[in-house]
Amino acid sequence: MSEPAPVLAVVGGGQLARMMAQPAIALGLPLRLLAEAEGVSAAQVIPDHRVGDHRDLDDLRALTAGCAAVTFDHEHVPTAHLHALAADGLAVRPGPDALVHAQDKAVMRARLTAMGVPCPRHLLLGEDAGPDDVAAFGFPCVLKTTRGGYDGKGVWVVRSAADCDEPFAAARESGVALLAEELVDFRRELSALVARSPSGQAAAYPVVASTQQDGICLEVVAPAPDLDPDLATHAQQVALRIAGELDVTGILAVELFERRDGRILVNELAMRPHNTGHWTQDGAVTSQFENHLRAVMDLPLGSPQARERWTVMVNILGAPERDGEPVGRLYDGFPHAMARDPRLRVHLYGKDLRPGRKVGHVNAYGDDLEDCLERARHAAAWFRGDLGNESE
Ligand code: ADP
Repeated sequence: MSEPAPVLAVVGGGQLARMMAQPAIALGLPLRLLAEAEGVSAAQVIPDHRVGDHRDLDDLRALTAGCAAVTFDHEHVPTAHLHALAADGLAVRPGPDALVHAQDKAVMRARLTAMGVPCPRHLLLGEDAGPDDVAAFGFPCVLKTTRGGYDGKGVWVVRSAADCDEPFAAARESGVALLAEELVDFRRELSALVARSPSGQAAAYPVVASTQQDGICLEVVAPAPDLDPDLATHAQQVALRIAGELDVTGILAVELFERRDGRILVNELAMRPHNTGHWTQDGAVTSQFENHLRAVMDLPLGSPQARERWTVMVNILGAPERDGEPVGRLYDGFPHAMARDPRLRVHLYGKDLRPGRKVGHVNAYGDDLEDCLERARHAAAWFRGDLGNESE
């Protein structure tokens, strides 16, 4: 009789869990999913799924019963529940003491500062704080919710006391503290991704450059063009050191600002596959999704090396509606996109088009960066409906 395959539980039914399913198939690793609702992105492709609430400990216990380990599509499982699951004897990967640094920006800033890792100047605003405290910190600056933000939601650039009204109102409503940060005048944003296993093996991906629009990742170029090799190595070492000291398991993404003087500051941490690592699906020997699975199952990691000179990833974001109708053409866009560029790689998430929503991405790779950029941007614009609709 053959041995039964260990089952990995995944909390959260978004596209990251969906994209974990591909390498899970190849590795023969069964996944069991906790989905927010029937039909969400990952539930479409993971047959062993149940609908439940990631904030409910009973749902988490029911999901993980008999599983070898649990990992996550997002950072929103309450830290206390993660401790409870770990106390039950479950392998929680990443563990609560690591994950809290991706859940709470105040905890993350305090820890990184204590480690001597360069961060933007910052100030945690207590319950009684108000716009005067922000003024004393100095305008312009950035206010951020310490918990629960994503894709730029919960991040405000404030230039005056009046600008502080919205963030303070949001903080009162949610009961979550705000963090003030200097507005960094960065040259560009970089991302250093590493995978780390519980036994301590780690692998660092090439450092990439990312472009955001309204706080949402739009494009990634791997490797970051014209990056000083010493700075690239330094960024990888910072990421490896954070992963080691925080005892991260799985993928750690360290979002960085490259300052105009060539120094780097850490913006934030994510402990799961990350949008700035989607290029690895087609451009690296081992994708971030596969290395996340290998790491959380404590298997030897695969090579993070690039397979191609350049890989460009462009997200497909839902365009603004026209006459109340979505304008994109996801599946209808295949014939043009595929015929125009047989080397293009398309990844759709099974999501309905909504303005600003990430519904997929494309990867284009090759020896010529300008060509990769043109191909990936053209394809993404085509799927969004920004091209070819002009005369309609
Ligand atoms: P989220 O948790 O929503 O991803 P981030 O902290 O990554 O929030 O902020 C989203 C984006 O806002 C960043 O990618 C960056 O473009 C911008 N941003 C965040 N913090 C700062 C800062 N201190 N200075 C300048 N820009 C910032």
